[in-house]
Amino acid sequence: MSQLEFIPPARPLIGDEEREAVDRVLRSGMIAQGPEVAAFEQEFAAHFVDGRETVAVNSGTSGQHLGLLAAGVGPGDEVIVPSFTFAATGNSVALTGATPVFVDIEPDTFTLDPEAVRAAITPRTKGVMPVHLYGHPFMVDELSAVAAEAGIAIYEDAAQAHGASWNGRKVGTLGDFAMFSLYPTKNMTSGEGGMVSCANAEIARNVRLLRNQGMETQYANEVVGFNARMTDIHAAIGRVQLTKVDNWTAQRQRNAAALDEGLADLDGVVTPVVRDGAVHVYHQYTIRVDAAERDRIREALKDEHRVGSGVYYPIPNHRLPSLARFAEGLHLPETERAASEVLSLPVHPSLTQVDLDRIVTAMHAVMGAGA
Ligand SMILES: *Cc1c(COP(=O)(O)O)cnc(C)c1O
Repeated sequence: MSQLEFIPPARPLIGDEEREAVDRVLRSGMIAQGPEVAAFEQEFAAHFVDGRETVAVNSGTSGQHLGLLAAGVGPGDEVIVPSFTFAATGNSVALTGATPVFVDIEPDTFTLDPEAVRAAITPRTKGVMPVHLYGHPFMVDELSAVAAEAGIAIYEDAAQAHGASWNGRKVGTLGDFAMFSLYPTKNMTSGEGGMVSCANAEIARNVRLLRNQGMETQYANEVVGFNARMTDIHAAIGRVQLTKVDNWTAQRQRNAAALDEGLADLDGVVTPVVRDGAVHVYHQYTIRVDAAERDRIREALKDEHRVGSGVYYPIPNHRLPSLARFAEGLHLPETERAASEVLSLPVHPSLTQVDLDRIVTAMHAVMGAGA
């Protein structure tokens, strides 16, 4: 068995086209934010968010932070966030000086529970930041109704959901702003980077100002800003990836269907739920297993079958040392259960049919061994 090639849980795909694009920018002598970034913004906006004004930044986290600042979030405000997500979601709220208010998830999709959001709204609530976790849209109709009724904003964390949609409405067009991440393990990459899709010209202008030292005109700084610019080197990579991402997403979806079928009859495994009306882009293919068995399953997949897997995320954010001060005494049972049960199997577009068969066979062997 040891000569089997390891199947990694994620694999960024970088080809000759990306290498040539980087070389072109390097040879141009202009490598900081310039024409490649401007072109990437336009192309990304046309591709994913129906042409909404979109601003490129140096990471998804920067995009989320600047988006919140641009939307006017600051000290004294509360923003409702899931605890079951990557720490950047709550961090970006905390970095503005506002308070992240952690609420529980709905167990089928692992996304924010709209009724729990309703119960957490106070007079200080400025908005809610749902995450399209694993590439499945949040509960758009239910949560939008709650937000509209309370008069609070929606800020989308679309870091994992390039191309996902809900009844024909694209993620990234559903809130005041949406952040997409371009980190290497996401569905497409620019090396590092982020995109902020903005609902109106004012938010977009604010993000542009904050990205570049608060300047629209050189040396006429209007507000205190950051250097959160994307480079043309990164944008050139992203532009090439944009021409490939739809094929990759289709491959992710085919891989997920093969895994669904292969794991359907396996006791002790709950395969991903896709709600009617949702287009899931499978950033992750995440199953549930018995919490007491998960570590054994992961180890056996890796050691006996050379199949990588991941746990996203093992520690709910409201219990992280960095964020726990916002959540004293808080108990989120569905979040805790998910954190102890989830297991993500490889679903990335470079898997072969042989890889998919190996993953299914390995899961059957490993689950059988525990029974
Ligand atoms: C990756 C990710 C982020 C942060 O994006 P970076 O580009 O890594 O800064 C935020 N939220 C979620 C859910 C993510 O997966």
